[in-house]
Amino acid sequence: MIGILNMFAKRGLAWIAACLLVQGLFHACAVSAVADSWYVAPAGDDTAAGSLEKPFATVQRAQGAAAPGDTIYLRGGVYKMTTAHITQRKGIFGRVTVLNISGKPGQPITYRPYENEAPVFDFSAIKLTDVRCTAFYVSGSWIHLMGLDIIGVQVGKMEHTQSICVESQGSHNVFERLTMHDGQAIGIYHVRGSDNLFLNCDAWNNWDYTSENGKGENVDGFGCHPTKGSTGNIFRGCRAWFNSDDGYDCISASEAVRFENCWAAYSGYSTKFESLANGNGFKAGGYGSHPANELPDPIPRHVVQNCVAVRNKASGFYANHHPGGCDWINNTAFRNGTNFNMQGRLTDNRTEILGYDHRLFRNLSYKSRRDITNFNAAKCEVVDNSFTLELKLTDQDFVSLDEAELLKPRKSDGSLPDIGLMRPAKDGTLSRAGVESMPGGESAYIGALKPQ
Ligand code: CA
Repeated sequence: MIGILNMFAKRGLAWIAACLLVQGLFHACAVSAVADSWYVAPAGDDTAAGSLEKPFATVQRAQGAAAPGDTIYLRGGVYKMTTAHITQRKGIFGRVTVLNISGKPGQPITYRPYENEAPVFDFSAIKLTDVRCTAFYVSGSWIHLMGLDIIGVQVGKMEHTQSICVESQGSHNVFERLTMHDGQAIGIYHVRGSDNLFLNCDAWNNWDYTSENGKGENVDGFGCHPTKGSTGNIFRGCRAWFNSDDGYDCISASEAVRFENCWAAYSGYSTKFESLANGNGFKAGGYGSHPANELPDPIPRHVVQNCVAVRNKASGFYANHHPGGCDWINNTAFRNGTNFNMQGRLTDNRTEILGYDHRLFRNLSYKSRRDITNFNAAKCEVVDNSFTLELKLTDQDFVSLDEAELLKPRKSDGSLPDIGLMRPAKDGTLSRAGVESMPGGESAYIGALKPQ
């Protein structure tokens, strides 16, 4: 009886009411719907009970205790990860923390900071010379991973390789407010699985200066390369800056990916603006040198909407030889090598051709040598872009041109900061430009940010 009372205390009145309303199900509720809390702390002990007073030491141990609906609270402080923490060695991979136990629909397993504490996972002591290091490998589904700071993931191999902060192989997961920085690894790397949301995550200062030529060609902020059938993956409210390759990359994707309200800056540069690898803000498409018979059918149409690209070395928004079209809607590009590069290919994946079948609605380009290149306007849907309207813009048309605003702290709910950078000024040229109302209606302005 005391046990049941404790359960009531944990679950709250709503749960009690729900159970009492359905008398016949009372027993089932009491047995199956109890969610537990588990605790992990840097000074914890994996032989402990996992309680607030006696926390575990590792996320891996906590996973073993958790059932669907449970929450694993991570206490603040630095978790110094070592090779002793490697859970799985498989082929060319060394996976440190492996989250392979799933929640259920409506009952995710949640990993999150305790109250406002800041858990930092430091991988700088793991230098694997034989395999790739994956800091967090998530193959389970119905998982909510939130608020982890992941730093110092290393590359130890000299030949072609790629270390990874968070590898995503499950479905219905939410990756929220993860920060991945100051390492040699890609931030988030999605491989397979559907309906994942990558929300309000930041990846910065990531550069593999060890392998191959040290230019860091595999280190994007975010990579999304879903296999056939892996649909419904969305990046929303994320930021990427100073990553040695690209900000966001979905080369070789077999299904469409959405990028909404994401920002990319300084891709392809070190923090001293040394030139590193590719340097595109949003690389949405393409299949490299894959033979034509390995291309997906249909070719996916990626969506890039309300995104901002600033001073990326190569292109702000790049179709990357995509053998088909994408949707580029209400994006803002400022000071990139090229702001919009729609380079396409025929479906033989060999013959280079000006980009075709794209939809370009209400995009904004400013201060680049090239607003848009490699673009066949006659074979695209083109509506109300600053460059196709041939607007004559000046600095006075924007609230601010201060790039530092991009890196301002996030709001308390994790959403992006309010910025004036590239926001159309009230009564400026952009605000006066009459734009057609398109499906999706309210974005009847040019660029990613509403005029102010
Ligand atoms: Ca890349």
